[in-house]
Amino acid sequence: MAHCVIDEAEAILDREFPVLDKGFVRLVDYLGGDERVVQAARVSYGAGTKTYREDAALIDYLLRNSHTSPFEQVILTFHVKLPIFVARQWIRHRTARINEISARYSVMKDEFYVPEAEDVALQSTDNKQGRSDETPDPARIETIRAALAEGQKAAYTAYSSLVDEGIARELARINLPLSLYTEWYWQIDLRNLFHFLELRLDIHAQKEIRLYAGVILETAKKVAPRSCESFERHILKAVRFSGEELAELRKRLGITGSASDIAADDTVPKELSGRALERFEEKLRSGRQL
Ligand SMILES: Cc1cc2nc3c(=O)[nH]c(=O)nc-3n(C[C@H](O)[C@H](O)[C@H](O)COP(=O)(O)OP(=O)(O)OC[C@H]3O[C@@H](n4cnc5c(N)ncnc54)[C@H](O)[C@@H]3O)c2cc1C
Repeated sequence: MAHCVIDEAEAILDREFPVLDKGFVRLVDYLGGDERVVQAARVSYGAGTKTYREDAALIDYLLRNSHTSPFEQVILTFHVKLPIFVARQWIRHRTARINEISARYSVMKDEFYVPEAEDVALQSTDNKQGRSDETPDPARIETIRAALAEGQKAAYTAYSSLVDEGIARELARINLPLSLYTEWYWQIDLRNLFHFLELRLDIHAQKEIRLYAGVILETAKKVAPRSCESFERHILKAVRFSGEELAELRKRLGITGSASDIAADDTVPKELSGRALERFEEKLRSGRQL
C-alpha cells in the first residue's frame, strides 16, 4: 500500500482555522492515517488487511491497551500562529519538531493578543494557577482591555524606533511582551499528539491553549478519525481512580473481591474522608480528572 490519501484531510490542507483574535492553525501536511496505524500494527501480528469494522476494533484495542507505537507512524505538520505566552506552554511538549520565526532575523509584526471581554476574569481563589468564573465590573473590563492594548502599542513603538535606528533586531525585541504573536511549524506523531491533547484540552490548562488544542483535535480527526474517536473514548473522557477511590467505588457498588483485591490491601486506606472524598465525588459528578 502506497501513500495514504485521505479526502477529508486533503480538503482542509492549507486552510487557516482562526484561533483567538489573530491566531490560526493550518494543517500543512500529513503522513498516514487510520489505515497506516492498522498496517503497522498488523506487521506485528503478520495478518493482512481486514474489514473496516475489524480495523476500527483493532485501533480501539491498541489505544485501550497502550499499544502506542503504531500511532507513531502517523505524522501531522501544522503551521500555527499563537501568542508567545501560549507558545511557552506549548513548547514544553518535547516530542515535536519545531521551526519558529526568528525575531533576530525578522522584524516582528505589530500583532498582539487582547482577550475578549468575556475572557477577562478574576484570579481563582481555589486554583492558584487559574482564573475564576467571576468577572470584574463590565466598565472595568473595557478599561483593562484598553490598558493591555496601550501597553502593547507603547512596547511596539519603542521596538520600531530601535529597529529604525539600526539597533540589532535581537536586542530591539527584548522588551516585547508575551502577548506578541509568533508563528511556527509544528510536526508531531499521533501518539505524542494525543498526549499533548490530553494535557492541553484538560480544564486545568489555560483557556487560550485549550482553544488551540481543540482546533488541533478537530484537524487530527480529518486525518485519523477512528484513532481520534478511540482517544476521546479511552483517554480524553476517561478518569483515573486512585487505589482508595477504587475501594470507595467498589464499596458503593457492593462489589466484594478476593484476598488479592484492594479491600484486602493494608496499604490502601479503607475510608475516604474530607477533601479526598469531595474530590472523588466531584470526579464522579463531572467525569473530569481532578
Ligand atoms: C495544566 C498544566 C500546568 C503546568 N504548570 C507548569 C508549571 O507551573 N511549571 C512548569 O515548569 N511546567 C508546567 N507544566 C508543564 C508540565 O510540567 C510538562 O512539562 C508539560 O505538560 C509537558 O508534559 P510531558 O513532559 O508529559 O510531555 P512531552 O515533553 O511531550 O513528553 C511526552 C512524554 O515523553 C516522555 N519524556 C519526554 N522527555 C522525557 C525525559 N527527559 N525523561 C523521561 N521521559 C521523557 C514522558 O513520558 C512524557 O510524558 C504544566 C502543564 C500543564 C498541562
